[in-house]
Order: sequence, then structure tokens, then C-alpha cells
Amino acid sequence: MARGNALQKSSDIDSRFLFLSCSDVTEPLLVEVDQIYHLACPASPIFYKYNPVKTIKTNVIGTLNMLGLAKRVGARILLTSTSEVYGDPLIHPQEESYWGNVNPIGVRSCYDEGKRVAETLMFDYHRQHGIEIRIARIFNTYGPRMNIDDGRVVSNFIAQALRNEPLTVQAPGTQTRSFCYVSDMVDGLIKLMEGENTGPINIGNPGEFTMIELAENVKELINPKVEIKMVENTPDDPRQRKPDISKARELLKWEPKIKLKDGLPLMEEDFRLRLGVPRNN
Ligand code: UDP
Ligand code: UDP
Repeated sequence: MARGNALQKSSDIDSRFLFLSCSDVTEPLLVEVDQIYHLACPASPIFYKYNPVKTIKTNVIGTLNMLGLAKRVGARILLTSTSEVYGDPLIHPQEESYWGNVNPIGVRSCYDEGKRVAETLMFDYHRQHGIEIRIARIFNTYGPRMNIDDGRVVSNFIAQALRNEPLTVQAPGTQTRSFCYVSDMVDGLIKLMEGENTGPINIGNPGEFTMIELAENVKELINPKVEIKMVENTPDDPRQRKPDISKARELLKWEPKIKLKDGLPLMEEDFRLRLGVPRNN
């Protein structure tokens, strides 16, 4: 965003809310805050692979800047890390003690390894400077207001079904993901920030689905006539992913409430409005 817009005050919205349209988390930021939710980074594979050098700068220099800020003002900082730190996991479901199986030189590494370094930086600032840290390992998340052309699987399938285009299942289609509804995710992040545990803690929904099952669910819900088409996959796609959320249950008293079958229709409603596809059309 434009540097010239920095320090714009949104006093008409809420006097307690200040929106700083800063150019970039990879540049130093001088503000006074009590808590930092450090979420910055493209999370869709299409977007994080588009400019991989920038992705790794965001995770490394961006996290360093946020930690420098936390150190100067004495703020608590929460990093949204990722299930990608487990790579193509050799244990299932994934618990936090698992160190992962990540390709350090692959096309996904800018994101996977970037977040792994970000976690390391968080712990080094914690040990060396006493910074209060929180690390969430987020598993696949979906919900209303997601970018329609975000490129991730749930938004792709819903948009394709509404546009009457084939649902593109990337081969082999038996790979699994576990999808967490956005309000559950936000609830988990706030509980982690406000609690006493540094993490890392998995925040995700353990309901696990193959991509073929997901396509079939979306087809049945939105457009029973739509075609499901098998397309080529991308390199290093993890074959399975399901969070073990015992730690979140025990330490944060958190677990997701919204099942995929209840979350998908909420996202469908929002996509129908934005794509201009009314029901019964
Ligand atoms: N930093 C920032 N905002 C602050 C304080 C620091 O963006 O309020 C940045 C700073 O530019 C530096 C990074 O955070 O690049 C790390 O800061 P730290 O003080 O830990 O390291 P140093 O500046 O001593 O290298
Ligand atoms: N995928 C798919 N069709 C799509 C987009 C993705 O079958 O149009 C698959 C992809 O191969 C992966 C899974 O869906 O196995 C999740 O991909 P996504 O990009 O949503 O997130 P990831 O978990 O890979 O970061």
C-alpha cells in the first residue's frame, strides 16, 4: 500500500481504532502497542510462490522487525505459524513435538522454512531478551470474505461450483486436509494471546477430508450437476494433514465448534452475494 497513506486516522469509525496503512512489514515500524498479532505473509501457495524472495523476507525480516518492536515497547507478540512447518508429515495426526519433514530447497520452502525461521526468531528473542511470545500453528482455514480468487482449495471449489465450472481436484485427490472455520480460528488465536502458554500450539479442526471428498461435498451442496475434473498437482504437496489439538484443548480450553458441513453453506452465501449468483438460478 502507498507509503503516503501512512498514519491515516480512522476517527470516524471508532476513536479507539487506528488504521496504519504501512508500506511493508519488512520495513521498521514505530508504534506504541501492548500486543502484536503478527499475521503478515501471503498464505495461499499461488501467492507465496509468486514472489518467493519477498515471502521469505516477510517471514524473516518482517518477524525480526515485529520482535524488535515488541522488545522496545514491552509488548506480547503472537506469530501465526503454520501446519506447513510439518512439511509432508511422516506422523499422523501432527502433534507439536513433531519436527517435520520439510524440503529446504523446494518451491514451497519460502513459506515452510520462512515460518520455521520465524518460530526460531520468536524463541531466540524470548530466551535472549525475555520477550513474551505466543506461537500458533494454523491449519487450513476458510470462511466468508475470503478472496474469491485466492487459489486455495475451498474458495476454488465454491467459486467453480457457483460459476458452473469443473471442480479442479489436483491429483491424486486422496491427499487430505483438515479445515477450520474462521471464527473458530480467531477465537483460538485470542485465547492463545490472552493465556499463559508460549506454544507452539496447533489451532485447527481435526475433521479430515480427502480433496475428492471435499469436491463431492461442495458439489452436493451447491451444484449437483457440476463436473469434478482431475488436474495436475504442484511439487511437494503434503499428502496428509490433521492437527492433534490435545494441547489446545488442555491448555487453552479451546476446540473448534463449526463442522465443515455447517461452515461451507455460510461461505457459499457470501460467495453467492459477491459473485452475483442468487439461489435457484
Ligand atoms: N524495530 C522496529 N520497530 C521498533 C524497534 C525495532 O521495526 O520499534 C526493528 C529494527 O529496525 C530492527 C529490528 O526491529 O531491524 C530488530 O530490532 P532489535 O532492537 O532487536 O535489533 P537491533 O536494532 O539492535 O539490530
Ligand atoms: N487443491 C485442489 N484443487 C485446487 C486447489 C488445491 O485439489 O483447486 C489441493 C492441493 O493439491 C492440496 C489441497 O487442495 O492438496 C490444499 O491446497 P491449498 O492450496 O488450499 O492449501 P495448502 O494446504 O496446500 O497450503
